Amino acid sequence: MDGNRVVVIGGGAVGLATAFFLSERGVKDVTVLEADYVASASSGLSVGIIETQYMKPLDIRLRVRAMEFFKRLERDHGLDVVRNGYLRLARDEASLLAAEKSVEIQKELGVTDATFLGPEEIAERIPQMRCDDILGGLFGPSDGYIDGHLYCTLLAEQLQERGIQVKVKHKVTGLVENGRGYTVVTDNDARFECDYLVNAAGSWIGEISALVGIETPVIAQRHQAAMVATNVDYGYLMPSVMDYVPHSGDTGLYFRHERDGMLVAGLHSEEVHEGTVNPDDYHRSADQEFLELLAAKLESRLPGFPDAGLGDGWAGLYPISPDGLPQVGPSVGHDRFITVGGAGGSGIQLSPVLGEVAASWILDGDARVLEGAEAMKPGRPSLSEDTVRSGAD
Ligand SMILES: Cc1cc2nc3c(=O)[nH]c(=O)nc-3n(C[C@H](O)[C@H](O)[C@H](O)COP(=O)(O)OP(=O)(O)OC[C@H]3O[C@@H](n4cnc5c(N)ncnc54)[C@H](O)[C@@H]3O)c2cc1C
Repeated sequence: MDGNRVVVIGGGAVGLATAFFLSERGVKDVTVLEADYVASASSGLSVGIIETQYMKPLDIRLRVRAMEFFKRLERDHGLDVVRNGYLRLARDEASLLAAEKSVEIQKELGVTDATFLGPEEIAERIPQMRCDDILGGLFGPSDGYIDGHLYCTLLAEQLQERGIQVKVKHKVTGLVENGRGYTVVTDNDARFECDYLVNAAGSWIGEISALVGIETPVIAQRHQAAMVATNVDYGYLMPSVMDYVPHSGDTGLYFRHERDGMLVAGLHSEEVHEGTVNPDDYHRSADQEFLELLAAKLESRLPGFPDAGLGDGWAGLYPISPDGLPQVGPSVGHDRFITVGGAGGSGIQLSPVLGEVAASWILDGDARVLEGAEAMKPGRPSLSEDTVRSGAD
């Protein structure tokens, strides 16, 4: 049994997954402090897509590892994973080659069903979709989506069963570094002593770090999504579609099945836009301008749904690192202050592996649980480079 006392700040997907892996590795004294409620911030506003269709080896490795955990929660604890498949469209030669390479890497990692589909095969699978401008797509038949809120609730229940406290309505307002670790103070005057502090505060990571004079650049980027009533029972489980190539500098359309006659759609990017907002004060509804742009993109990609209408829309935050890669590990000069987050629009799908790596930093002193995970260490030079680009949404 491990005698470390750990306080995790943040009851979103990333903080809860970190507490889960700490408990799994024998740490008994873990407390999660959440300012509001479990999944009350980004994790409850996500579209919940989980998949492995990425291009860079580390991006793929992280997601393959995370998928193993979702599979486990599905099997052992009834997590509802809708396996509708995930298709990333390729519109140019470079994306085509990257997709083919991704299939190879995924196969090496045991994802044997990932495959490349030509335009005709795609048209057969999704007859309503316009395919005349695409060269094909990278397809993961076992990918799917989950409900971010239910996932977090399930993790919190599992933690409570293991004797780990998830204290909601405990907003951390003060941190004092003492020789062995930290004293954590909350807005209701509670105090917690710990040997390790985990900063999993999502879009507030920078605010928490600043309490002990550490600079951790995580940008709160506003993103919107909306329900789309297709008014047609399309008679098959439509795969999620992403018309965006990671790190392309573009902002792409995505949509996924919600239920018969209903899709969820949004615009996605992994670039760091200038649209930073204050996580405590941003507009939570979808803008008219966004809805119009989304409707136009949907009409162009899905002309088979002529009567499709946009329903309710909402806005949430991507907590994103300036260089687009999550941050996991100790802060420079503060070995007991572990940051975990900055996963942008992939924080649900990456949460298990980020939690596992954060636990490894505490228990092993490095990121040995996953090859290449040291690259996510906070304080790396690329976080302070001027990587901010402009874009829509
Ligand atoms: C529209 C939209 C669609 C998305 N779709 C997807 C998707 O399909 N797939 C995917 O993988 N990801 C998706 N994401 C991204 C994903 O939601 C986030 O990356 C992820 O939820 C981040 O989780 P987190 O735990 O780091 O942050 P959060 O969920 O924001 O959790 C951080 C928590 O810290 C708490 N906190 C902050 N300050 C304090 C404090 N002082 N004291 C105590 N607690 C504090 C907050 O209240 C919050 O609950 C989407 C996001 C949006 C907005």
